[in-house]
Amino acid sequence: MAKRSKYVKPEEPTLLRAHVLASKQVSPNFVRVTVGGEELSSFTAMGFDQWFRLFVKKPGQAELRLPTQTSLLWYAQYLMMGAEKPLCRNFTVREYRSAEAALHGAGPEIDIDFVSHGDASPASAWANSVSPGDELGMLDEGLIYNPEPAADWQLFVGDESALPAILGILRSADRGLRGEAFIEIPHADDAQEVDAPEGVNLHWLVRTDSHARAGKLALDAVTAATLPTGRGYAFLAGEKDLATGLRRLLVNERGFAKEDISFTGFWRFGKAQG
Ligand SMILES: Cc1cc2nc3c(=O)[nH]c(=O)nc-3n(C[C@H](O)[C@H](O)[C@H](O)COP(=O)(O)OP(=O)(O)OC[C@H]3O[C@@H](n4cnc5c(N)ncnc54)[C@H](O)[C@@H]3O)c2cc1C
Repeated sequence: MAKRSKYVKPEEPTLLRAHVLASKQVSPNFVRVTVGGEELSSFTAMGFDQWFRLFVKKPGQAELRLPTQTSLLWYAQYLMMGAEKPLCRNFTVREYRSAEAALHGAGPEIDIDFVSHGDASPASAWANSVSPGDELGMLDEGLIYNPEPAADWQLFVGDESALPAILGILRSADRGLRGEAFIEIPHADDAQEVDAPEGVNLHWLVRTDSHARAGKLALDAVTAATLPTGRGYAFLAGEKDLATGLRRLLVNERGFAKEDISFTGFWRFGKAQG
């Protein structure tokens, strides 16, 4: 039998230019940046946790230069751009609106929810200081969420960086889905409205200790949780140790098969994304 692929890749990845339409602080630790522009009409929205490479100018760069390749070759090309190399970071489509549903202009729009984690971090700083008209590039990467069809139920766990991904998955999921979702956030007001299937129990975990390491609360909550029985599929994302620690726990102590887990380190303590 053919092996299920790990990711759901876009049929034709697009690398497009867009610009900022608006930005607003939506909660204590999240800034929502809305982007648009003519080229967004070639973006194919896939729903769920669709993610993309975000390219923006580095301080001091006069122009936003982008790689031209959309195959895996884009990265080699990017590395060879020398001083013209833009900043590149990974983000999730929080919401896609077609031209008919647009709130700010005449064409399609995408909202991106950035965790505000300090102006020493370039993408976070960019989101905190954008103005309408600022340019960006987006390379569509598709979905990490790729559930095992035979799973009886699903588990979603993440910290704040994975909030857009988990809420996107719950919004796109089949209404008959059963599962448990745990999202760790730095402040109670960072919780967002959720459009989830009735059979999914969502637990917001608020990190009340500001010195606590992100992800620990979620790891502890899942360790202590009574989870549904039957074959589970898990989507785990957030700080690297959360994703890898949970995967270990689910495999060693909760009987999950490794192939029934999608786990991704969305960021890493003390380390800038490459
Ligand atoms: C598939 C995918 C989808 C993602 N989607 C989103 C999304 O929609 N929204 C979002 O906010 N993030 C998302 N992330 C995470 C985001 O790419 C990282 O947080 C990234 O490191 C941010 O870049 P930066 O330039 O702000 O910080 P970097 O330059 O990469 O890091 C600088 C410092 O900040 C720390 N840091 C990085 N991220 C965080 C964080 N979230 N909280 C606290 N400290 C941090 C690092 O440890 C480092 O010390 C996603 C990651 C992946 C892989």
